[in-house]
Amino acid sequence: MTRHAFLKLVALTFAGAAMPLDASSSSHSMPALFVGHGSPMNAIQTNPFVTSMRALGESLPKPQAILVISAHWMPPFHGVSLHESREVMYDFFGFPEEMYALQYPAPSAPQLIDPLQKLMGALTVKNRALDHGAWTVLMHLFPDASIPVMQWGIPRDASMRQHFAFGRALGALRDQGVMIIGSGNITHNLGAVDRAIDAPPREWAVAFDSYIREALLARDWEALIEAPDRAPYATQAHPTWEHYIPLLYIAGAMRPSDEGRFPYEGIHHGTLSMRNWVVGMG
Ligand code: ZN
Repeated sequence: MTRHAFLKLVALTFAGAAMPLDASSSSHSMPALFVGHGSPMNAIQTNPFVTSMRALGESLPKPQAILVISAHWMPPFHGVSLHESREVMYDFFGFPEEMYALQYPAPSAPQLIDPLQKLMGALTVKNRALDHGAWTVLMHLFPDASIPVMQWGIPRDASMRQHFAFGRALGALRDQGVMIIGSGNITHNLGAVDRAIDAPPREWAVAFDSYIREALLARDWEALIEAPDRAPYATQAHPTWEHYIPLLYIAGAMRPSDEGRFPYEGIHHGTLSMRNWVVGMG
């Protein structure tokens, strides 16, 4: 299908459902969140992290739309996703059968295309199902799947500083009823994960996570942007950086007047920081 035909289909599919954003209805800006998604098994397990996510979801205001920045989509362009079907993507292998039956049938959010292009310039619009970086966290935060969702594609060639700047620009959407959720992990080294979820945390994971915690508390954005060069054990914490980058977007979207807090902190499988960070919760 050509892009034009797809957009036409989207326009038809979503006619009536695609309510324009209404800035005047939101007297407060939406919070922005960084969530650690960790193992896809969090979708079907009950553990303290999942319990914390559900409690967090209940405490959040209801946005008009959600923009997810997931570690699992780094396209070679600047773009966003619509999902023509409401089937989710099972972008993981070797998990129990029940994982492949899970659904999160949230609507697409075509109403974000115009405001996003005003902020970010021309964007490629891609037909793409929600990936597990998006739906395995949304199912805990907003279990009824009624809020329209769009994913932002993390441009794979951008620098850390550019990602931070993109986050700052996207932050303007918070005043239009849009909740921005970055989904990754503050430490992520799949080659080093322990099988046991409650394995003792490794020294390097604790050290890197602590460095980030201190940077977030101090709002030391340079320490975040330069983490690959400055943070302890950076190459062990992130052999590749895609799970870290969503954090830069939320840091960029934070404003001086925002409070920040950590609704959950802990390390799964000895190496995976599950730290969550919420900014602007009033
Ligand atoms: Zn992941």
